[in-house]
Amino acid sequence: MIRPKDPNIKTSIFAVMTKEANKHNAVNLSQGFPDFGVSEELISLVNKYMKSGYNQYAPMPGVRILREKLSEKIEKQYGRIYNPETEITITAGGTQALHSAISAIVNEGDEVIIFEPAYDSYAPVVRLNGGRPVYVRLKYPDYSVDWEKVNKMINSNTKLIILNTPQNPSGKVFSEDDMNSLKKLVGGTKILILSDEVYEHIIFDGKEHNSIAKYPELAERSILVFSFGKMYHATGWKTGYFAAPEKITEEIRKIHQFTVFSANTPVQYAIAEYLDNEDAYLNLPEFYQKKRDFFNSMLKDIGFDIVPAGGTYFQTVNFSELTDETDMQLALRLTERFKIAAIPMSSFYHNEENTKTLRFCFAKKDDVLKSAAERLADFYAKAKKQLNLF
Ligand code: PMP
Ligand code: GLN
Repeated sequence: MIRPKDPNIKTSIFAVMTKEANKHNAVNLSQGFPDFGVSEELISLVNKYMKSGYNQYAPMPGVRILREKLSEKIEKQYGRIYNPETEITITAGGTQALHSAISAIVNEGDEVIIFEPAYDSYAPVVRLNGGRPVYVRLKYPDYSVDWEKVNKMINSNTKLIILNTPQNPSGKVFSEDDMNSLKKLVGGTKILILSDEVYEHIIFDGKEHNSIAKYPELAERSILVFSFGKMYHATGWKTGYFAAPEKITEEIRKIHQFTVFSANTPVQYAIAEYLDNEDAYLNLPEFYQKKRDFFNSMLKDIGFDIVPAGGTYFQTVNFSELTDETDMQLALRLTERFKIAAIPMSSFYHNEENTKTLRFCFAKKDDVLKSAAERLADFYAKAKKQLNLF
């Protein structure tokens, strides 16, 4: 038998809930993935490159033309130049970029600051590398950061701060003030920043994405992670990239090369060509804001009190007035009995604290969102009746 490398690591909640959703034939708003198609044009481009023989290993850091296009994109959007040769690397999705970056940076005894609720892949990789995750809670319900608290957690072992904006699962968008506080905090230290920006283009209410790349003092100590899965509704293509200063990139590529060596070749060529169509991703805020508002308006009509997500394609909903169950129990019951699956927010906290809040993915067709809302309305009515609140 194999001894568990880290007994704290369990099967990811995304795999668990999607399996439950399929088992019970439930509407699946748990794991985050869109249910609408990838652009036909982009699919044709992948096809074109496959048919014309681009089917062997890409260069280890990624196809050159794609890296050049991404360098131009980042410069145009965020004003910082990343050298395509030495500072941009194509990966097998954002997850692999995060894994390679954390593995390259974190050593035995290093501390890594993580904001909670947090995406589930950060802490396990920190621990697998001998590091210690240190958690800072975002304040409910607006998920704001108490920077004084963060300041108190910094010590000589602090190696890395992991940031995620727009943030999965909370939908929080880090403001300019947040970035300036971070700048003050790390100034004069050797702390690095891992900035997970996979939802850079899914941001609402006219807000601008505060990429780390916009802040030179931060960018020089940061690794930025992006994903084409989110940009092009193609989570199954598992293609992403990271941008970081040359010296940091050098070390991360040493891990990347022995993790996957290189990412999917025809997809990289196709994306390089498709990137010329800026509308394909610049339309995302409008597209997803409509979805968020459609879903939220139905939830509000039911009676839920919603704090709208500022970005990402996730909406959190609090159930504390409706049930005494834990959010995990509720998520399982909703899936089995009401045929609607969501992610319990406790899964995004290291102590699995019962938040009585669920995360719903609204990257779905309108009729699917409508059907989800109907099921939640059914649950709501029955829960209120049981509590004699009607
Ligand atoms: N970071 C966050 C915050 C995410 O939500 C995701 C998407 N699941 C990833 C990273 C990973 O991206 P990918 O699917 O490209 O591996
Ligand atoms: N990022 C997606 C989510 O948060 C799913 C990622 C995964 O399945 N690993 O739901």
